[in-house]
Formats: sequence, C-alpha cells, structure tokens
Amino acid sequence: MSDFDTDLFVIGGGSGGVRAARIAAGYGARVMLAEEYRVGGTCVIRGCVPKKLLVYASRFAHTFEEAEGYGWTVGEPTFDWATLIANKDREIARLEAAYTANLTRSKVEIIKSRAVLDDAHTVRLLADGSQVRAKHILIATGGWPAMGNGIAGIEHVISSNEAFHLTELPKRILIQGGGYIAVEFACIFAGLGSEVTLVYRGDNILRGFDDDVRAHLRHEMERRGIKVICKRIVEAVEKVDHGLCVELSDHEDIVVDKVMFATGRRPNVAGLGLEVAGVRLDEKGAIAVDEYSRTNVPHIYAVGDVTDRIALTPVAIREGHAFADTVFGGKPTRVDHTNVPSAVFSDPEIGVIGLTEAQARERYHRVDIYKTTFRPMKTVFVGSEARTLMKIIVDGASDRVLGCHIAGPDSAEMIQILGIAIRMGATKADFDATMALHPTAAEELVTLRTVTETHVRQAAE
Ligand SMILES: Cc1cc2nc3c(=O)[nH]c(=O)nc-3n(C[C@H](O)[C@H](O)[C@H](O)COP(=O)(O)OP(=O)(O)OC[C@H]3O[C@@H](n4cnc5c(N)ncnc54)[C@H](O)[C@@H]3O)c2cc1C
Repeated sequence: MSDFDTDLFVIGGGSGGVRAARIAAGYGARVMLAEEYRVGGTCVIRGCVPKKLLVYASRFAHTFEEAEGYGWTVGEPTFDWATLIANKDREIARLEAAYTANLTRSKVEIIKSRAVLDDAHTVRLLADGSQVRAKHILIATGGWPAMGNGIAGIEHVISSNEAFHLTELPKRILIQGGGYIAVEFACIFAGLGSEVTLVYRGDNILRGFDDDVRAHLRHEMERRGIKVICKRIVEAVEKVDHGLCVELSDHEDIVVDKVMFATGRRPNVAGLGLEVAGVRLDEKGAIAVDEYSRTNVPHIYAVGDVTDRIALTPVAIREGHAFADTVFGGKPTRVDHTNVPSAVFSDPEIGVIGLTEAQARERYHRVDIYKTTFRPMKTVFVGSEARTLMKIIVDGASDRVLGCHIAGPDSAEMIQILGIAIRMGATKADFDATMALHPTAAEELVTLRTVTETHVRQAAE
C-alpha cells in the first residue's frame, strides 16, 4: 500500500496543469488537480480565448467600411457590448465544461479549492482544510497582472481580468503598458468605437519585437486614431464628475471613463507555501526549474507562466506534457524553447518567429535583410492606406532564415505554418524555390528577391 494519497497532485487547472494531469493519468498515475477559480485557467477564462473573441468583434468595423467599396449597402451598423460579453461568457462556460469533462473522462479527480503546500509532500485544500499526501507535486499556478507600486487612485484601475467583464463599453479608455496585451486591448477598444490613449514608459511599444515591426504597428495604430504616448507613466488616477482624471508624469491630465493597466504579469507564487516546501525561486521571482521542469526539490515540478520561461499557452501545454512523459511515461522529454512562433492580435495583426534584426546582428557576422511594405489587394481596392510589412532575416554565411516578421492581416496564420520551415532550417534559397500562390499576401514571402540591407559585424577589438 502506498504511503501517498495520490501519485500526482497538480496545483492549477490552466493550460499546463490540465495537460499534465491528463497525460499522467493516461500513463496510469492516480492524479488529483486543484483549481481555485475556473477550470481552463487564464487562456480559456480570461486570456487568449475571450480576447480573440473580442478581437474578432472589433474587426467588423473594417468589414462594414470595406463592404461598401465592394458594392454592398450596409445600414448604419450599431454595436452592443452587452450582447458580445454575454455570448463570450456562454462560450467560455462551454469550454470550461469541455475541459472539466475531459479531465473527468481521463480519471483526474478535480478539487474546486485553493491548494497550498504544508510541506514538500503535503498539500492543504483551503476549501475544507483537509490535507493530501502526494508522491509528486506539479505547480502550474500561472501568472497574475502586475499593477505597479500602488499609485494614488489605483483602486480605480482595472487589469485585463476585469476588462472582460465591463458592464458597458467605455467611451474613452486609457491603457498603460506597451506589451502585447496592452496593444491588443487598445486595438480592441478602438475597433469597437472607444477613444483610446495608450501610455507607455519606454521609447516605443512592443519592446523585444523587431524595431521595424514596432515602428510599423505604432504608425498603423496612430493612423487608426489611437493616441500613443511614450516615455510617460501614469502618476495618479482621481475620480471626477464625468469619469477618471489621469495625471501623467509630465503633469498632463487626461479624463477618461476607464483606466486599464497591462504592465506585465508576475508568476503566481504568493502564499503557496513554497518556503515550507523548500522550493527555490529565481532572481525574477519565478519558480526555478531545470530543463525537465524540475525544481530544486526532486519530486516537485513546475510548468507554465509560474516558471516565467515563455508565457504562452502552447508552451505551458508542451511543458506540462513533457513533464508527464518524463515522470510517468518513462520518456525523459525536454521542451525546445527556441523558434517559438508568436502573434500579437493587434490591428494590424503581427506574427513573428525567430530572431529580430538586432538579435541576428549581435549573433551573426553577416546578416541580410529582405523587407517590403505594401498595400494589400483587399483594402487598397477600397482606398485604404493600411500597409502590410514583411521582413525576412537571413544569415549571410549559411543562407539560413533566422527570423521572419509580419505585420498585416492573417500574419499569425502565416507564421504558424512558416514556423515548420524555419524550425527545419529552411534557407532563403528554399523560400525562393517555393512556387508563389497567387493572388495572396503570403506570396510576397517567396518572391522577395532583393536584399534591402546587409549588415556586416566589425571584428571585435
Ligand atoms: C489577456 C491575456 C491574453 C493572452 N493571450 C494569449 C494568446 O493569444 N496566446 C497565448 O499563447 N497566450 C496568451 N496568453 C497567455 C496564456 O494565457 C498563458 O501563457 C497560459 O494560460 C499559461 O498557462 P499556465 O498553465 O501556466 O497558467 P494558467 O492558465 O494561468 O493557469 C493557472 C491556474 O491555476 C489556478 N491557481 C493559481 N493558484 C492556485 C492555487 N494555489 N490553488 C489552486 N489553483 C490555483 C488559477 O486560478 C489558474 O486557473 C494571454 C494571457 C492574458 C492574460
């Protein structure tokens, strides 16, 4: 008889935890999973999925505008936020039920409770105070919005969590942050008709992305009427008669109806009992793990955003799966965190994979850049000035494609597929040898013949 109540206790029913639990149970492990809020986690309940639904909603604005140029007569379109939110909530409930059913079918015992560690093998369930002794523990508690160091009036500020549940569409909204979540919400609200101001403390939005993409997106967002204020921060928020008065660091006041901070996310480790279990954090406050997601305590593992490697759903899922293969499937599996495709569902959308130009120039002796911007067929036809950017970064020595960056309609879809070629080590010659598919925007990727810039690194002194 085992000394343990379960082989695996998973804390957190999000992308990483759910996958790990299902796969481990499939290997015959007895698995329990605790979720304190809703099964599905950030991605399903208040992240990727509801966000993408709002993105879809916001893009109808263009569709109505363009339709006329194509001969359609569309009456004055009106938008109802309450309908969108109610329908979104219905879809999220459906997905939550599907996740729950999948876990139950896999024989994972779901416990609706917050779980904390009492020691390295004991989990306490706060719902009823009971304890569970677990042979292995997986921490998959995700991340949480970082709201800064408490400015005056912070109680009036919402995060992305609340943005999904607003009772009405704000007429004017100020969003602080320059990362993908800030930019996406700015474009969502602008598309739905809000007057949007984006405030960011850095030089330009989307730090870490290719500089051409950053400049392109900012230009396009401004062209679409979003006010982007960089090198400034929000100092205070005060409730006034007709909304919220936001004081910026240069003392400019802006009055809006809602203020949202999207200033990054922190690993969700507070109050988890990591100290009593002896689990170490890294210098950024994330759970420190090795390449098998194992913490310094050999039977405790951690996956997903709580480890702050790459905070994306498919990465958390892959890490959870690899953990289960390693510990319960007898197949030690590492996750490759290079060449992860990613997207920003802004307007226009961004899809990227591999190195930025700056990274490539730092690491490679000679870098060739192939770049184009053009007005896509569909929208130039109706007189739109919107431009698509495509940029391919090539190692001049081996001809290997090091990175690809697209800002334009459907770029996320293009990058997903391009990811296969780039992972396989495709060269620029492979791109050139691929027959174009006409008429598409993606054909530009295989017809870019002329190097726009070459950068040769000077030998280090
Ligand atoms: C607004 C937004 C948009 C996003 N968009 C995208 C996107 O387009 N594409 C993409 O790939 N990623 C996106 N992400 C990121 C993605 O959601 C996360 O990377 C992913 O959900 C991480 O999975 P996880 O398993 O690590 O954690 P989570 O999915 O956050 O799951 C953690 C779960 O643990 C629970 N929990 C925490 N502590 C405890 C405890 N002590 N006891 C019990 N339960 C606990 C939480 O309630 C939560 O359900 C987005 C995130 C946000 C916030």
